[in-house]
Order: sequence, then structure tokens, then C-alpha cells
Amino acid sequence: MSSSRALTSLVREIEACRVCVGKLPHEPRPVVWVDSRARILIAGQAPGRRVHESGIPWNDASGDRLRTWMELDRDRFYDKGNIAVAAMGFCFPGTVNGADLPPRRECAPLWRDYPADVMSLPHPSWRNTGWLKRNPWFERDLLPELRRRVSSALR
Ligand code: SF4
Repeated sequence: MSSSRALTSLVREIEACRVCVGKLPHEPRPVVWVDSRARILIAGQAPGRRVHESGIPWNDASGDRLRTWMELDRDRFYDKGNIAVAAMGFCFPGTVNGADLPPRRECAPLWRDYPADVMSLPHPSWRNTGWLKRNPWFERDLLPELRRRVSSALR
């Protein structure tokens, strides 16, 4: 089986996963935005409510900030030949006191296989605006390196 077919089959398996039935406040809806042609994998925490409803990752203000960090417009970002999105947990975990719960613990051991070259970023949510202001090195020193790697990977 080619690696592309193996990946397609794995994505179908994940999309059909129902391990967390009864542990989530809704039916599981794994969101896996993956294609074997992708050059960059974005591994966020877990889908939020909007992603759970739409099936489209990063289609919000946090996604806009992430695209700014990466210097990518929406067309290039949502081209599966460029970008894959596979969170640490594939289903929206629900909320407590208005904040998203952490990803379900069942997910990573079942499905996660880490890529070799990882660059860790803070979540681009507005909630982290204070952190970004207190850590100017992130935009000054790290974002240029992120953009260099994105540009190089998608060249
Ligand atoms: S969170 Fe992960 S393990 Fe749980 S149902 Fe969704 S895909 Fe399956």
C-alpha cells in the first residue's frame, strides 16, 4: 500500500473513531485536515466549538493571527498540499466555565505519531495577547524564523 493510501485509510479510521462516546458532551466528531502532499503540520490543542460545528480548522480570529504569523493567506493556508492540521485531540472536548477543556487523554496514545521537526508556538488566541506583549522576543526573534521555515517548506 502506498504511503498516500495508508494515510487516507488512517484518516478514515480516525474520522470514524467513537472511543469517547459518553465522555464528551456531544457525539465525537474527529477533525483531521491531512493530506500526504502537505509540507507543514500544525498540531494545535483540540478543535473548538466552531471547528466542531464546521469541520474547518482555524477558521476564526486565532486562525487569522496564525496566518499572519506564518505570512500565509487563506488560499495557501487551506490548500491541503501545503498545510495539514491535526490537533493533539481530534474532537472538541467541551467547555468548563467558558473555557475549552483539555484534549481527551484517549486520543494521543491512540493516534499520535510525532513529526521529526517541531516548532512550538503559543496559541494564537486573543487570550494570549498579554503573553505576547510580555514576551516581545516571540515576534522579534521567533516569527522571522517561523516565516523562513514556512517559506522554505512551501517553495
Ligand atoms: S477525542 Fe480522539 S479518541 Fe476520543 S473519540 Fe475523538 S478521535 Fe476518538
